[in-house]
Amino acid sequence: MPDSFKAILISRDENKKQSVEMVDLTEADLMEGDVTVAVEATTVNYKDGLAVTGKAPVVRRWPLVPGIDFAGTVLSSDHPDWRKGDKVVLNGWGVGETHHGAFAERARVKGDWLVPLPEGMSAHDAMAVGTAGYTAMLAVMALERHGIEPARGPVVVTGAAGGVGSVAVSILSKLGYHVVASTGRSTESSYLFDLGAAEVISRDELLGPVKPLAKERWAGGIDVVGSVTLANVLSMTAYGGAVAACGLAGGMDLPATVAPFILRGVSLLGIDSVMAPKELRLEAWRRLGEDLDIEKLRKLSRAIGFDGIIDAARDIVEGKIRGRVVVDM
Ligand code: NDP
Repeated sequence: MPDSFKAILISRDENKKQSVEMVDLTEADLMEGDVTVAVEATTVNYKDGLAVTGKAPVVRRWPLVPGIDFAGTVLSSDHPDWRKGDKVVLNGWGVGETHHGAFAERARVKGDWLVPLPEGMSAHDAMAVGTAGYTAMLAVMALERHGIEPARGPVVVTGAAGGVGSVAVSILSKLGYHVVASTGRSTESSYLFDLGAAEVISRDELLGPVKPLAKERWAGGIDVVGSVTLANVLSMTAYGGAVAACGLAGGMDLPATVAPFILRGVSLLGIDSVMAPKELRLEAWRRLGEDLDIEKLRKLSRAIGFDGIIDAARDIVEGKIRGRVVVDM
């Protein structure tokens, strides 16, 4: 009898009704790949919430183990870069969407998708960062490439009390930026000040009617909300500024005008973590090791067990999760 391991499986019936259950799988159930990993930690991202609840078409193959990121130890490898015992991290590449994912004690993936666990980080720490934190780092790097330095002025972060937002606030403040944190949860103000926000504003300030150009309030921004919020952030961005767009927690539309682009030279920078090239990933993880305060990372994350994944997935799509949720396997 081969060794079995715990997994969460999303299935669909003939009427396309989705169900989710905890099951036992064996390695024979895993998909193709040249590296098998013992998953030690994973996390619940917004996208995982959408996948588990079926609220958006994240899963595109059934049945499927969800979970878009993990950290763990290589059990076996036919890939030249990896050997048994190596500590690795995976984000994206369709894992948890079209390829069996992280919500299982074992994963089999392509070795090309893996990056080494950063020096000095545990599997738990890496998943406290998770795809949300790695995306926040990609967004900060995009602003830097655009020349948005602390001396240029404040930087706004929307959805600040969420996963991407909390890590973005922490990194930007450590780098010396004046961070304006926008949140819908006034109860989280002291949490955001603790992470390094210089100002906390209500998300309502970014939900009003969108003017083509509004008063210039910041040199740049990181937006996880999309829709009217992103449109307002753009219209309030100062001449020559830039906004990194990485999320859609408030909607996928963008009811904006071109005025900020053509009259203020504002740039909209798109951030994708899923298919980001390996070089960029390596750079982002290296920077996370340097520019994210480990004490703040611990403040913004909490641990749950495997049995808590489904509830956390439901909570995150309802905007009830603060910071990051780490699943210790
Ligand atoms: P979280 O749920 O942890 O955070 C999202 C935050 O957005 C919430 O905490 C809340 O913050 C705010 N928010 C939620 N709903 C609304 C709403 N209706 N209107 C305004 N604000 C709202 O999710 P993550 O941080 O993990 O992910 C954020 C977004 O980024 C998601 O859309 C996700 O899909 C996307 N993402 C994209 C990636 C990429 O590769 N581009 C990678 C990772 C995530 P508050 O309470 O502070 O207002």
